[in-house]
Amino acid sequence: MSQLAQQLGEIKGRFDAALSRAADDAALEALRVAFFGRIGEITLLRRSIGKLPPAERPTAGKIINDTVASMEEQLSAVQAKLESAQFASELGKDIDVTFPSTEPAMGSIHPIRRLTEIISGYFERHGFAVVLGPEVEPDYYNFDALNIPAGHPAREGFDSFWLTDTLLLRPHTSPMQIRTMQQHQPPIAVIVPGKCYRRDAVDARHSYMFHQVEGLLVAHGIHFGHLKAMLTGMCSELFGPESSIRFRPSYFPFTEPSAEVDARCPLCKGRGGSCRMCGGSGWIELGGSGMVHPNVLREMKYDPEVVSGWAFGFGIERMALRRYDVDDIRRFFENDPAFLRQLR
Ligand SMILES: [Zn+2]
Repeated sequence: MSQLAQQLGEIKGRFDAALSRAADDAALEALRVAFFGRIGEITLLRRSIGKLPPAERPTAGKIINDTVASMEEQLSAVQAKLESAQFASELGKDIDVTFPSTEPAMGSIHPIRRLTEIISGYFERHGFAVVLGPEVEPDYYNFDALNIPAGHPAREGFDSFWLTDTLLLRPHTSPMQIRTMQQHQPPIAVIVPGKCYRRDAVDARHSYMFHQVEGLLVAHGIHFGHLKAMLTGMCSELFGPESSIRFRPSYFPFTEPSAEVDARCPLCKGRGGSCRMCGGSGWIELGGSGMVHPNVLREMKYDPEVVSGWAFGFGIERMALRRYDVDDIRRFFENDPAFLRQLR
């Protein structure tokens, strides 16, 4: 038994010496073969246990196993040290840490949001407050207070999503005109961007959800010229300093007189022809506008003889289609990064 312990000590001594000299993977592998291989020193020593008296064999096996366990630990430690040294040397050799990395994929502001911010920003600079309203509204705010009483044919034109007999998803941002006028006294100047909903079938030009931006100015002595001035300024912001606007007579229950607003096409300068941006008309439709109807002012307990105001409501998607020359409204809602990158 003492002979086996002595032999084991000698083997361990040779192992330690060889391990301290091992400088690479190949040397470590050679070491494994020399000591633990088929005819390695440890393997042969294990086989010699069979020649011992049976009573001594378990103890001999345990001595060898303990030593082998510590040898294997040493081996793994040296191997880990070699690997990290090799990694460090390769890092210094082949990788230029000053080389520019690949550009990370950056997001961008969605075109609908950006357009909303341009318009809101323009009015904010002119003293308007940006206000947001609920998307679910009672019919009073959507219709009654806006001079569209129950039974009025204009209600049908809004094609609304009704949630109950009196609650609906707002089909326009105009309810916030009413909420604002209920809470404040003139002068009032607000801009209301937000989502609206109508039961439109989805196609290249329509969506059941869309964005509007609403403007309202009510004060003493406000007239149509103020509206024209503000919208002309807004269009130069959107389409450049040379842009201009035109009004076309129209009808809305909540304004009198009412007008559709068009911006002169910035691409063809109003010439039309085969222009892609305006579809050949020379003009880009923005939406409806007009002087706030006296009935609406009276509903708010304002005296139409004392105060007057204008309002407008423009569809953001409709403007975005033109401004960014996009052929299908659905592209704005698909969140395809390739599409959004083009409009950055
Ligand atoms: Zn054009």
